[in-house]
Amino acid sequence: MLLTRDDWYELSRDVDWELDHVDRATAFPANWTGADGIPEQAWDAWEEPFRVSYRDYVRLQREKESGVKAVSQALVRSGTYEKLDPGHVAASHLHMGTTCMVEYMAVTMQSRMCRFAPTPRWRSLGVFGMLDETRHTQLDLRFSHDLLKHDPRFDWAQKAFHTNEWGVLAVKNFFDDIMLSADCVEAAMATSLTVEHGFTNIQFVALAADAMAAGDINWSNLLSSIQTDEARHAQLGFPTLQVLMEHDPQRAQQALDVAFWRSTRLFQTLTGPAMDYYTPVDQRKMSFKEFMLEWIVNHHERILEDYGLAKPWYWDRFLLSLENGHHAMHLGTWFWRPTLFWKPNAGVSKAEREWLREKYPTWEDNWGVLWDEVIANVNAGRMDKTLPETLPSLCNLTQLPLGSAYSRHELAPHQLTYGGRLYSFDSEVSQWVFELDPERYAGHRTVVDRFIGGEIQPMSLEGGLLWMGLTPDVMGDDVYQYAWAREYAALVETEAGALAGVPVAGE
Ligand code: MN
Ligand code: MN
Repeated sequence: MLLTRDDWYELSRDVDWELDHVDRATAFPANWTGADGIPEQAWDAWEEPFRVSYRDYVRLQREKESGVKAVSQALVRSGTYEKLDPGHVAASHLHMGTTCMVEYMAVTMQSRMCRFAPTPRWRSLGVFGMLDETRHTQLDLRFSHDLLKHDPRFDWAQKAFHTNEWGVLAVKNFFDDIMLSADCVEAAMATSLTVEHGFTNIQFVALAADAMAAGDINWSNLLSSIQTDEARHAQLGFPTLQVLMEHDPQRAQQALDVAFWRSTRLFQTLTGPAMDYYTPVDQRKMSFKEFMLEWIVNHHERILEDYGLAKPWYWDRFLLSLENGHHAMHLGTWFWRPTLFWKPNAGVSKAEREWLREKYPTWEDNWGVLWDEVIANVNAGRMDKTLPETLPSLCNLTQLPLGSAYSRHELAPHQLTYGGRLYSFDSEVSQWVFELDPERYAGHRTVVDRFIGGEIQPMSLEGGLLWMGLTPDVMGDDVYQYAWAREYAALVETEAGALAGVPVAGE
């Protein structure tokens, strides 16, 4: 008689053995498991809600995989890609370049869980997580390879993490920290609970909806398929938090607060501009802020409440940043556009500004006035004034430009001296993260540190671009060739006569 899954599941996922030749601490060192201070028996309570057998897993994944492949093959043949809006396409370049290798880093993280997680149940689940992330890496590579003939930027799915492009270094810095350098417990808090259960929804649900509206069915489909896996393997965060709450709630609070802030800053860089500027305005489903509030903030608040944790101490600062951080990052990345491997869309035509004003009431005062200067320079043909000559100062934690966390009215520096070296931060929150564990971050040198140290030669923007691997065929420029600026010149000419070329703030 064949047993049903429920008859053997408990036994199969709980296989463990007594160690004869080494002691447990040698086989499962605390700096790998993260289980320091938590009694071994505590892990008996670790229950994952997602009961899946290897056989079920393979069957389901096979179906998903052939679904994605069928859609992609049909679409590659039908020439859909050529019809896509170039602003939207930039979002897919940005995604592939910055995400593909993160998926691959996640394979390593999940493999560590397979080997070192403090309970056999978690180790079993890690096997599925590892296979998931391998699939995601392969999906991104196949998608990008199919489109390489249209644009060399898709090469950056594989290439980006082997370059020194500054944005990629910021992404890599964060995931090195929470995936490659984190012990199992910390990775479960920072990656599984915060990034996978929360923030990936912006990239894989919100952006998937925008991509579908933009007619990019292939990419939308790929993102949604990946998200079904993320939603499953992210579950391992909950039982881990449960155990941690019993034995070290302070550590849980801190790990989540750090990960939430660092994730916010990163997604303000990657997804904020893609949602609120690159996606054509009539195809946007929700603003970045609206999506963050509904999907991320609500989820996160619920987790904190359910487990008896407090909101992060920096909540007010987070809300202020939510209003501004991605607008700052967008303006900065557009201005430093030669340092990107995609073509950003300024996204500030009149219709787009109206949308921005409606979604962000303080947008004109904080960001519109700065864009007006850009527009005036573009319309007067002073292109050199719209391009950088130097590199911006970078935060020693997030690796993002100083002044990019809040509005343009809050540029007060956050600095400290540690071990004889001066460190700068984009916010008091990033400084707080650094101070929690300075040795973890202190040795790292930002792009600007390396520039000043003479590692980047010649010491000019050209030298910097060369060092970042930015060749002319991929180097960023305004995706619409500044066409959006013209409507401001025309309006000023007809309405204000003599002031041709000078924009009117708020128009
Ligand atoms: Mn993944
Ligand atoms: Mn994942």
